[in-house]
Amino acid sequence: MITSLFTHRDYLRLFTAQVSALFGTGLTTVALGLLAYELADADAAAVLGTALTIKMLVYVMVAPIVAAYADRFPRRFFLVGLNVIRAVVVMALPFIDQIWQIYVLIAVLQTASAAFTPTYQAVIPDILPDEREYTRALSAAQLAATMETLLSPMLAAAALTLISFHWLFVGTAIGFVISAVLVITTRIPDAHAAPQGTFRDRIVVGMRIFAATPRLRGLLGLNLVVAAAGSVIMVNTVNYVRDTLGGTQSGVAMLLAANGFGTMIIALSLPGVLDRLGARPVMLAGAATLVAGLGSGIALSTAETGEWRWGAAIAVWAVIGAGTAAVLTPTGQVLRRSSRPADRPALFAAQFSLSHLAWLITYPIAGWLTTAAGFTTTWVTLAAVAGAGITAALRLWPRHDPAELTHLHEIGTIDPTADAIRVDERHYQHTHVFVIDTDHRRWPTPTPRQPAMAS
Ligand SMILES: [Zn+2]
Repeated sequence: MITSLFTHRDYLRLFTAQVSALFGTGLTTVALGLLAYELADADAAAVLGTALTIKMLVYVMVAPIVAAYADRFPRRFFLVGLNVIRAVVVMALPFIDQIWQIYVLIAVLQTASAAFTPTYQAVIPDILPDEREYTRALSAAQLAATMETLLSPMLAAAALTLISFHWLFVGTAIGFVISAVLVITTRIPDAHAAPQGTFRDRIVVGMRIFAATPRLRGLLGLNLVVAAAGSVIMVNTVNYVRDTLGGTQSGVAMLLAANGFGTMIIALSLPGVLDRLGARPVMLAGAATLVAGLGSGIALSTAETGEWRWGAAIAVWAVIGAGTAAVLTPTGQVLRRSSRPADRPALFAAQFSLSHLAWLITYPIAGWLTTAAGFTTTWVTLAAVAGAGITAALRLWPRHDPAELTHLHEIGTIDPTADAIRVDERHYQHTHVFVIDTDHRRWPTPTPRQPAMAS
């Protein structure tokens, strides 16, 4: 299925460009953690928390603005330019000796990344006009992002056994250069008036679908659980390994790799399970796994000494990776199920923004609270956030969640479908696969099938 996509020469190049850039960003994240530790020691969590908060602020604020205006530039040169900026910034990172310089470079780097992603997403439908291929491309992009989070730390771990982390930045820069070269050799049609409106319009449509669809309200809670547990991995791994466990930079990479390994095992074994059980139980089990992982982490953080903590930490990091995969892998399917094809880009864009908002809440907690109050307090706080998220998901996403719903329409508001029956003076009733769209702006209260009105 997805493989047939890659017979498109231009799509294949652009997808490879996106994957190279993703890996560039992933390796930067690992190297950045080690750089923060070199400059700030015990305060590394605060530095990383701040740097990642800047990243999320940039994503939430800059991405929509850039996307609204990106159509006015020749898109190919815009994408190449963004890759060149990122490569230059990354090459400058090893020469940094002040913490504020990290923040400035991260702001520039992430602004370029935040501008790249929506532009890339806007190019895809022009290259793949076929609706089904486009939907598959959206799924492939999500899969690539998941694979990146798990493979980058493994690559970094392998590389760090041979070289110092400064060389990771070189690898990253090479990723961006490859990405730029691939974009240059791709035929990207110039932007024409986007049929789905601007990114901003699409965000509004996407947000409205989110607000009105019970299972998507549940997804909001699940986003929060993923961000709470993920922040521990992203922000706290360096300090926990180096200060608490007394490990080295390869110890940091080893825990990150354990996290990636957990993600990979679940992501690979999930498709069959998903077909049998559906998304809700899998995602809720994933969220429960994340809460349990955080709980074990809290218990581990109270242990003062002992070599056994290495094994326990590897297990906790792997469990959090597994839970993350169980929540994230079905997300694309849930978004597809909740929208008609024309609204899918809007809904994927809304999920992009809303998931970043969740990280915007949890990164500062993981960063600043750790420096002020230590791991135990921070992880208890994040576990409370995750607990609130899973509780919200359980309550908002009904257990019985059929695709087809029987519902009423006021007569005159829609063209009645063939099976529509008139149930009273003012209403038709019919049954179909239900999503929020222009004819269905609110989620219906379940109504039993009624007999047709006697005429
Ligand atoms: Zn209807």
